[in-house]
Amino acid sequence: MKRFALTGAAGYIAPRHLKAIQEVGGELVAALDVVDAVGALDRYFPEAAFFLHPELFEAHLEDLRDRGEGVDYVSICVPNFLHGAHIRMAFRVGADALCEKPLVLEPSELDRLAELEARSGRRVWTVLQLRVHPALVALRERLLGEGGVKDVELTYITGRGPWYLRSWKAREELSGGVAMNIGVHFFDLLHWLFGALERAELHVRTATTMAGYLELERARVRWFLSIDARHVPEALRAQGQRTYRSIRIEGEEVEFSGGFTELHTEVYRRTLAGAGFGIEAARAAIETVDRLRRLEVVRARNGQRHSLVA
Ligand code: NAD
Repeated sequence: MKRFALTGAAGYIAPRHLKAIQEVGGELVAALDVVDAVGALDRYFPEAAFFLHPELFEAHLEDLRDRGEGVDYVSICVPNFLHGAHIRMAFRVGADALCEKPLVLEPSELDRLAELEARSGRRVWTVLQLRVHPALVALRERLLGEGGVKDVELTYITGRGPWYLRSWKAREELSGGVAMNIGVHFFDLLHWLFGALERAELHVRTATTMAGYLELERARVRWFLSIDARHVPEALRAQGQRTYRSIRIEGEEVEFSGGFTELHTEVYRRTLAGAGFGIEAARAAIETVDRLRRLEVVRARNGQRHSLVA
């Protein structure tokens, strides 16, 4: 049975990790958060030790390691800017890190993590759950079979309330901004389906919405990313839907709004089997977001404008 510790236990995403640890037959032995709203632990691992101070959590994990009862994995569910530091903590206590997306905020940090992996002999894995979404796995297989360069429109709307703009998620230096925090899924998906980036343009950049045009090895992509639920198509919004994820390839739509929240367990299964998503898997999307950050907004040309861009 694999032994886990987890950081960020009071947050939104932590219960999906707790459930995944349980579903892969693992055991959570220790958890950390800097706030104490961690009642969710009782639902999954009522016996787990809990710490409010990172130093005490790390000292506990060191003690366990030295008694031969160390953890195999530290699951990292803290704000993005802390990922690198918590991955290092995992390595120091002799564990692999299973870290939420985006793995880090800058491409140069990936190189540093690769050095630390080599030195420690431990691995870092991340959560790129769209790569295990059944509809998208089937799509990728079909596309690889067909070949050619596709015309693609990608729409990715995950409505968030006013709290978002007041949280760490809206602060560029803590989250990487909307393109990194939300878009990293979407850019990873594009690279995984269509290959490396060749050209990028940015058409919209606001606090809640980004849009642009990308040329990849196997696609020309008009993309639109937003956390503003008003962009969800009217008919779906009327049914209370605040999320809309759609990829239209040569006019044919694959909708993947559903099934998104059930994928962490599959990511855990793969990670435990040594076939998870590591530094090199994470690299392309982080580099693309980094490139977009430096781009000036330009006016979209006809044929390169997403249909939701005015
Ligand atoms: P959140 O703000 O709800 O939770 C973060 C938690 O980390 C909070 O409980 C906070 O108190 C805690 N924290 C802050 N500093 C800490 C520290 N130094 N030590 C320990 N705990 C600390 O955020 P969230 O939405 O749960 O996001 C957490 C991570 O999960 C982020 O990296 C985010 O990008 C990622 N995420 C992934 C998905 C996905 O679909 N894969 C979805 C949402 C969030």
